[in-house]
Amino acid sequence: MRASREPRIVIIGAGVSGIASAITLQRNGFHDFVILEKGSDVGGVWHWNHYPGLTCDVPSQLYQFGFAPKADWSRIFAPGPEIQRYLADVFEEYGLRPHLRVNAEVTAATFTGSGWRVETGDGTVHEADFVIAATGVLHHPAMPELPGLDEFTGEILHTARWDDSVATDGRRIAVIGTGSTGVQVVSALQPKAEQITHFVRSPQWVIWAPMRLPQPPLLGAVLDRLPQVNKALYQVGMTGARMFTDVVTRPSWRRRTVQEYARLSLRAQVRDPELREQLTPDYQPLCKRQVLSGSYYRALRARNAELVTDGIEAVTPTGIRTADGRHHEVDMIVFATGFKAHNYMRPMNLVGREGISIDDAWAKGPRAYRMTAIPGFPNLFTVLGPNSPTGSIPLHHAAEVTARYITAWIHRWRTGEFDTVEVTEAATIRFEQEVAEALTPTVWNTGCNSWYFTEGGSIDLLPFDRATMEQMLAVPDDNDFHLRDAIAN
Ligand code: NAP
Repeated sequence: MRASREPRIVIIGAGVSGIASAITLQRNGFHDFVILEKGSDVGGVWHWNHYPGLTCDVPSQLYQFGFAPKADWSRIFAPGPEIQRYLADVFEEYGLRPHLRVNAEVTAATFTGSGWRVETGDGTVHEADFVIAATGVLHHPAMPELPGLDEFTGEILHTARWDDSVATDGRRIAVIGTGSTGVQVVSALQPKAEQITHFVRSPQWVIWAPMRLPQPPLLGAVLDRLPQVNKALYQVGMTGARMFTDVVTRPSWRRRTVQEYARLSLRAQVRDPELREQLTPDYQPLCKRQVLSGSYYRALRARNAELVTDGIEAVTPTGIRTADGRHHEVDMIVFATGFKAHNYMRPMNLVGREGISIDDAWAKGPRAYRMTAIPGFPNLFTVLGPNSPTGSIPLHHAAEVTARYITAWIHRWRTGEFDTVEVTEAATIRFEQEVAEALTPTVWNTGCNSWYFTEGGSIDLLPFDRATMEQMLAVPDDNDFHLRDAIAN
């Protein structure tokens, strides 16, 4: 056993998972880390997304770090800019600014035999003992290649790269896509648009929820003064969230109840049989990432709104032509078409042991042992990586639990137990098999297409409940890893 040493750590990404990683390292006495962020500020998805109507449909009291509760959220479901501010405030509060490099996109990371050589777009090189890839899931916008799009003379926007300088009031707007984003942006733009046309390829179930409900100021004041109550409320929320995990992971009366509520949300708000027919999905509620809204159906019923479910044939210089031969004249096209959710850290040129690239390692789709360790890539961990519980367990919590697991490994490196730690192929295969088996009874597997599916056809989610996730990341299991000295590489 060698003397204690201090690890150099590179964290890639300053979103929820990067911030959780940095603070966890710091709280465990690791201070030699740098956070490389591609964007111009912290916040990840909440930095990049600022489209009109952006709101988080997870209650604010749950959509926060367990170690940094905010008492005074303005609404039960916080608006995007408030979440972005919260993340920036936490970042400041924990003194992370000196560790941050913004506009520092990692273009390459190469395993050296004992650690990593990480390169950013401007040619700066960081030598590290460990890399934590906290690069996010919903980061790379998906832009469909529609015929004629290049010839469109109006504005073209993707919700994930919104241009705040583009005027929307009094204009004829096409919105394509009806996930959580499309539903929010249509609801927000409709009141002041001249005309809004929502192009929907597959309708979604939209559960009614009071998305604009204010959080009572008195609640904020009480939670601020009584941290114990704040903690208790968080625990109550976590218990509630656990019931929701159950709803998606296996059939039960609870699942059926939520599904019935989704059907009722449509029936009660859309009386026109033709419009209701158009809005009725041909798959079970909850199969795709559930959409929540208190305003979408009302927006669609407005005089200046139209739902178009005929397929898009082509974009013309002045609008969109659909398969029924109609031409829809519009001034701007908003793509709410989601993300390439399975890219993770790519297109970065990530090269592991013996020259294996991440593209080769993931040729059949992204894979990682317990969401965080990839065979062939020693001393590299992902946070909210493949199979993360993006559809069920609160994200901040999943990121915190994973960051603690990684920190446990780094702690053992510090004490000199090993130079490199790499998950075994056998353990990764075993984990994949457990996941595949548990995915069978999930609602995500009941016959819809969604961003949860990888190109290879597997579902990139965690089909376990919170307790199982916590247990699997509680203590590193040596049997599942190769622990080596650098000399043996
Ligand atoms: P999404 O759920 O992947 O939805 C993309 C939409 O675009 C779908 O309706 C899809 O139709 C449509 N689409 C894609 N390509 C198309 C094409 N070529 N022609 C016509 N339609 C096309 O993306 P998202 O709405 O951005 O949401 C992604 C995730 O972000 C959500 O599921 C959620 O996890 C997260 N999110 C969360 C919040 C929140 O409040 N917490 C808000 C926004 C987003 P098909 O269904 O037919 O493929």
